[in-house]
Amino acid sequence: MRAVRMTAPGTLELTDVPTPQPGPGEVLLRVGAVGACHSDLHILDAAAGMFPTPMTLGHEIAGTVESAGAGVDGWSPGDRAAVYGIIGCGRCRACLRGEENRCRVNPLGGIGLSRDGGLAEYVAVPASRLLHVGDMDLTQAAPLTDAGLTPYHAVELARDRLRPGTTCVVIGIGGLGHMALQILVATTAVRIVAVDTSVAALDLAGRLGAHHVVPAGPDAAATIRELVGPPPGGADVVLDFVGAQPTLDTARQVVATGGHLLLVGLAGGTLPVRPVADEPPPVPLETSVVVPFWGTRAELQEVIALGRDGRLHADVQTFPLAEAPEAYEALRRGDIHGRAVIVP
Ligand code: NAD
Ligand code: ZN
Ligand code: ZN
Repeated sequence: MRAVRMTAPGTLELTDVPTPQPGPGEVLLRVGAVGACHSDLHILDAAAGMFPTPMTLGHEIAGTVESAGAGVDGWSPGDRAAVYGIIGCGRCRACLRGEENRCRVNPLGGIGLSRDGGLAEYVAVPASRLLHVGDMDLTQAAPLTDAGLTPYHAVELARDRLRPGTTCVVIGIGGLGHMALQILVATTAVRIVAVDTSVAALDLAGRLGAHHVVPAGPDAAATIRELVGPPPGGADVVLDFVGAQPTLDTARQVVATGGHLLLVGLAGGTLPVRPVADEPPPVPLETSVVVPFWGTRAELQEVIALGRDGRLHADVQTFPLAEAPEAYEALRRGDIHGRAVIVP
């Protein structure tokens, strides 16, 4: 079969590999759609040894069951499913609570992270990773598994602050950010301020229900502080889906005292956290800083429900498998709006 693999750090290639055989407890999935996540670029850029090579990328997968290995119950050929990408150890305290995204043994264990992913015609996955998607379009189902799940989990972590009358600032309206806006609209009654460098992303944010859109840049923090009320106002919750130095600086300058900063993006910036009462402090007093990772299987089921109910819809640009490397280059250039989805 054809697969798009990271053959060495920084190198993505379309190659031929043997079709995998499902092991005990696994299913062979015919891949219907795979989202191109910005994290795949971080994986490609990571130092040698961080991730296995060669490895098929792709951790945002939906497909159709082709066959089931020994001992698989409840899944039959033809069943349509989304893949929960994390593979925790299953035994640590976090996994036992169903929080595999906090696994203490395999913190980065997953399909397309520690074993072959879905940028291929077929992928073998543990049957326990599958969730039914019914008759949903698979190009819609795939982005739910990360671009949908990760912001959903981040919103869950801040749920107690997302009350009517509060403000949530969302920075980076790309694959994850445009889903975050819809999750906020569908599940909260907060005022939403969207921030991005791209005019197209801000247009999309406006269409998806952001109450204010603010161009990213050195003036963004002052603009947002005016929008969210006179000092000592500030945003109750900030979701940063970029994580670069300028966005982290904007985030800490606009978060309210006692607010929540959720740093989802992995662009390499640093947040100075110091317990001081200076004016202005690097991070306000009583502020919680969280670095969320992906989400839980139970949350994915809720995200799929939002998708099936039509409340969460990825803005999708599709590419055939052979064009996956071009899709990633376009993502790197900032030329993808919403989510690029590869259809093998
Ligand atoms: P994306 O490329 O689709 O979207 C990024 C968006 O940020 C784009 O709209 C871009 O215009 C905007 N942007 C870039 N630089 C900016 C800046 N300086 N100021 C404001 N906006 C800016 O990426 P994505 O797939 O949505 O992923 C976003 C980030 O989240 C990536 O770093 C990715 O690795 C990370 N991620 C983290 C997790 C997690 O569990 N923590 C999960 C998935 C993705
Ligand atoms: Zn991802
Ligand atoms: Zn574990």
